[in-house]
Amino acid sequence: MSALNVAKFGGTSVANFEAMSRSAAVVENNPDTRLVVSSACSGVTNLLVELANGVQAQERRNEILSQLAEIHDAILNQLQDASETAAEVYALLDTVTSLAEAASIQASTKLTDHLVACGELMSTHILTQLMKERGLNTVRFDIRDVLRTDSNFGRAEPDVTQIALLAQEKLLPLCRDFIVVTQGFIGSDLDGNTTTLGRGGSDYSAALIAEGLKATGLEIWTDVPGIYTTDPRIAPKAAPIPEISFAEASEMANFGAKILHPSTLVPALRHDIPVFVGSSKEPEKGGTWIRHEAQSSPLFRALALRCNQTMVTLRSAKMFHAYGFLAKVFEILAKHKISVDLITTSEISVSLTLDKTNTSGGAPELPQAVRSELEELCSVEVEHNLCLVALIGNHMETKGYAKEVFSTLGDFNLRMICYGASDHNLCFLVDAHDSKKVIQKLHQDLFEQHN
Ligand code: ASP
Ligand code: MG
Repeated sequence: MSALNVAKFGGTSVANFEAMSRSAAVVENNPDTRLVVSSACSGVTNLLVELANGVQAQERRNEILSQLAEIHDAILNQLQDASETAAEVYALLDTVTSLAEAASIQASTKLTDHLVACGELMSTHILTQLMKERGLNTVRFDIRDVLRTDSNFGRAEPDVTQIALLAQEKLLPLCRDFIVVTQGFIGSDLDGNTTTLGRGGSDYSAALIAEGLKATGLEIWTDVPGIYTTDPRIAPKAAPIPEISFAEASEMANFGAKILHPSTLVPALRHDIPVFVGSSKEPEKGGTWIRHEAQSSPLFRALALRCNQTMVTLRSAKMFHAYGFLAKVFEILAKHKISVDLITTSEISVSLTLDKTNTSGGAPELPQAVRSELEELCSVEVEHNLCLVALIGNHMETKGYAKEVFSTLGDFNLRMICYGASDHNLCFLVDAHDSKKVIQKLHQDLFEQHN
């Protein structure tokens, strides 16, 4: 096999029979596609997460379970020969039922992963059968045999070396003979427990598997024709970007452009695998190519917005001319596996924002245990209801750019500003209720007028 393409389909691309059929057509149209990575059908993971968090009321549990059955039945009903597939899906729904009951008594992250994994396990049974019925030589593969992770349930870390070994041994030979359909999002630890990579993790899975297989291309199929200059629901004149560099796209993904899971580009970058993002609904519209080097490198490329930010400010007079304070702070955060996003410092204080991407969702909180430990060192203040705006581009050290950016923002309070570590982004925190206006104003002044 000289060319091997991995195609990943998100929840909306496998939401129902029509969506799955369009996705199958996308696979047919690229003869290099040997591996298909699928998300759960749209909406399914949210329902499973609700169950996993522990639903006490039996009535509500049953309601969710029937919704889950309905979503999958609607597709099964349109298959020509659904019998075996339906049996597999119903068996998984039985598992969901008993795990949901267990979670209503005592929820745990381990149980959550086991439960939510059923979404991808079900969708891939159906997608495999649908592709077979279209005449594609398809086989389903349980990715837990390859995607080895640690046991950090809810946001497991992949073991890249093991994944590569297992992918070469177990997956690559299958890809020679079949189009292999497998699950995104899920993996397993050394003890065989099911793990997940965090919400939206299927993109990351696809990239990890592509890396392990030494694939020549990775396609991420979703419901928008590529990466936009910003969210078109906020700024209607936002436009798709035909080509973008890995560096810019990583910043975007990282800073909230929901189109890609933030870690997706890490494996792609390591192995220099070009990534295409497009819409399985309208593949003819093209999409965005993410490459090592893009041909153009404009000053401003895109604007990303991430809400639900939690900002923590730590103050200590002891920090004045002292050393080791930050090291102590980060030691505490690292010990509790708290991931930090933005950071700014002054002589006696440091502010940082918390990152939250694990499977159970919600706004990030500073756990009480962490707070108490930090309070032994300094004062701790926590603020919520903030949004992070990231302006992505190139050579942002260019003279005059800051004036251009900040003069458009004269009417807004900026809570925190970060620039310097990378010349690809400038980001700041604003009040949640200003966030959309900030994006609209920046898009208008920096993008619509320039283009
Ligand atoms: N199904 C998972 C989620 O909704 C993973 C994914 O779709 O990427 O988060
Ligand atoms: Mg997604």
